Amino acid sequence: MSTVIKTTGLTKSYGDYKAVDSLDLNVGLGQIYGFLGQNGAGKTTTIRMLLGLIKPTSGDIELFGDSLRGKQKELLKRIGSIVEFSGFYENLTARENLMINARLMGVHKASALSEALEIVGLHQETKKLVGNYSLGMKQRLGIARAILHHPELLILDEPTNGLDPVGIKEIRRLIRSLADERKMTILISSHILSEVEQLADQVGILHQGRLLEEISLAELMKRNRTYMEFQVSNENKAALLLEQQFGIADYEVRGDGSLRIYSHLGQQGNLNRVFVQEGLEVTKMAISGETLEDYFVRLIGGGTIG
Ligand code: ATP
Repeated sequence: MSTVIKTTGLTKSYGDYKAVDSLDLNVGLGQIYGFLGQNGAGKTTTIRMLLGLIKPTSGDIELFGDSLRGKQKELLKRIGSIVEFSGFYENLTARENLMINARLMGVHKASALSEALEIVGLHQETKKLVGNYSLGMKQRLGIARAILHHPELLILDEPTNGLDPVGIKEIRRLIRSLADERKMTILISSHILSEVEQLADQVGILHQGRLLEEISLAELMKRNRTYMEFQVSNENKAALLLEQQFGIADYEVRGDGSLRIYSHLGQQGNLNRVFVQEGLEVTKMAISGETLEDYFVRLIGGGTIG
C-alpha cells in the first residue's frame, strides 16, 4: 500500500517543552486514520505541521511520497482540511460562503459548489443564513469547503467536537462515504475513543507528544477481544473436542497448556463438562479480555482518554 502521510522523527519544541516528540506516522492510501489522544497530546500541533502552518523543530514530512520541503505549495493543493474553527459569514447562505472560498481557492467550476453541498447534505438549504445553522450544519459546511477542490487527502481536527449524538453520527456517515465513494484518504483526530473505533481502519495513539502505538483497528480488536481461557492437561485433545463437539473454529492453542476461545462465550459450563467427561483435567477456567477503553487507559498509564 502506498503511503500518503509519512513523518520521520517529527518534533516540535516550544522552549524546552516538546509538544510533539519524534513522531513516525504512516497513513496509507485510502485509509481512515484515527489520530487519538487526550487534550494537549499534540494532535493539533502535528496537524499544523502537516499542513505547513508551523515549522517542525526537526524531522521530516512526506506527503504523497514527496518531501514537504520545497514542494509545499504543490502538495498542499492536494489536501483539504479543517483545523481550528475558521468562521463563515453568518449573514450569507452556505452557497454564498462557498462561492467566496471557491474564488480564493481558485476553484472556478460552478458545479463544484453544488456537488460539495450535496455531498454534505446541505444542498436544500438554499435560503437559510449560516448564522441560523446548528453547529453540526456548520461543521458539514466546513467539510464542504474542505472538499471543494477534490482533495485526495482530508485532514480533520476534532470534527465532532461539541456536536450532539445526531450531529456526530452525521459527520461519521459523511466521513465514511468520502472514504468509500470518493476514495479519499482521511486523517481524523479525536480524543473520543468510541468515535475513532467506529470509523477508523488504522489508529495512531498519541500521548504527551509521543506516538505510543500505530495499529490497525482489526488487530486492535483482536488483541482486545474477550475470550474464555481454559488450562487443561492436554490442549491438543481439548482443541479437537472444541472442533468436533462444538464446531468451534475461533480459538487459539497457547502452547502452555491453555486455550483461548473467542466465540461461544457463556458456554464455558458446557465446555468444561465435556472436557472433564473426556478425561481432561481442567485447572483453570476464566473469562478474560478488556475493553478498548481499558486498553487505552493502560497504554497511556492511568489517565482517561475522554
Ligand atoms: P487539544 O485537543 O486540546 O487541542 P492537542 O492534542 O491538539 O489537544 P496541541 O494543541 O497540539 O494538543 O498541544 C500540545 C501541547 O503543546 C499543549 O501542552 C499546548 O499547550 C502546547 N502548545 C501548543 N502550541 C503552543 C505554542 N504556540 N506555544 C507553547 N506551547 C504550545
